[in-house]
Amino acid sequence: MPRFRPILDQLPVYRPGKAVVSADGRSFKLSSNECPYDPLPSVVEAIAAAAREIHRYPDAACVGLTEALAGRFGVPQEHVALGAGSVTVAQQLFETVSDPEAEVIYAWRSFEAYPLLADLSGVVSVRVPLAEETHDLRAMAAAITPRTRMIFVCNPNNPTGTVNRTAELTAFLDEVPADVLVVLDEAYREYVRDADVPDGLDLYRDRPNVAVLRTFSKAYGLAGLRVGYLIGHEPVASAVRKTMVPFAVNSIAQAAAIASLAAEDELLERVELVVKERTRVRDALLGQGWEVPPTEANFVWLRLGERTGEFAERCAVDGVAVRPYGVEGARISIGTPEANDAFLAAAADFRGR
Ligand SMILES: *Cc1c(COP(=O)(O)O)cnc(C)c1O
Repeated sequence: MPRFRPILDQLPVYRPGKAVVSADGRSFKLSSNECPYDPLPSVVEAIAAAAREIHRYPDAACVGLTEALAGRFGVPQEHVALGAGSVTVAQQLFETVSDPEAEVIYAWRSFEAYPLLADLSGVVSVRVPLAEETHDLRAMAAAITPRTRMIFVCNPNNPTGTVNRTAELTAFLDEVPADVLVVLDEAYREYVRDADVPDGLDLYRDRPNVAVLRTFSKAYGLAGLRVGYLIGHEPVASAVRKTMVPFAVNSIAQAAAIASLAAEDELLERVELVVKERTRVRDALLGQGWEVPPTEANFVWLRLGERTGEFAERCAVDGVAVRPYGVEGARISIGTPEANDAFLAAAADFRGR
């Protein structure tokens, strides 16, 4: 037998989620926080044009997309680093700090990729429990040791949808030593409507140890193409570029991302529809008697405890796929009004049991 790193024995084997279909053939995927709408025609056209060039390697430096992002956000091109989805950028970040005994702090429960990437890279995971479903930034600051190299703050948090606001986040950043990198994972930034939730891009500008992680997978609807990026100061962005697997962002993804930035107004109109539906879904759930943390993302969180699995099964009967987390709770993405209605009907029925 070939010998592998012992950590592999502890990593989960990926099991593809089975498609959920109701007896009458209805199927709604509310399990992955995707954009519920089809790609825009202009984006599909850019993809078709790029498809005619796929005998060539992609631009390894992603020059066009880097320029477009730098222009869009008013940052120097040197501050932008790309990856094949922001999960991959996160993996690149772990690789930049993973000396033996390095510690990486993150909240728990938060994005399930963090522990996986931490284990893979060999760093020590330091998990700080959520307080009232929200990052406990004081406890996270208190968890810093001389071995801490990086801290992830997922804002809004996946899977709870909760946020950390300006005063507490800036107070936290002021406490973090300058040699510890803080990564603000803003995968759901476009859905935030609370004006007191800071834009990470305002926080990073005068803080060399703060970087922002964003993605084209959610609001921009390109989950299937895998493009994400980091915006941070030169040394951070440069370290991330060094750890990128050559040609990781393929040419079709680069073209689609550029076309999506060009069509941003149209895409953000769809985000607005999702935000309106989010309010409707949460209000309906509260009306049914559920406790639902306020959410600034494109999903809601139900802390169901032991009944989580049973709840997911009940939703599946109506063709609604939700994302169950063991015996903790379920995350339900906001979809089209029809999908949301199907989910609300299943939730109401479950509640009445
Ligand atoms: C979905 C998500 C991402 C983005 O993943 P991609 O690799 O860009 O598809 C990153 N962070 C969080 C917290 C997410 O929920």
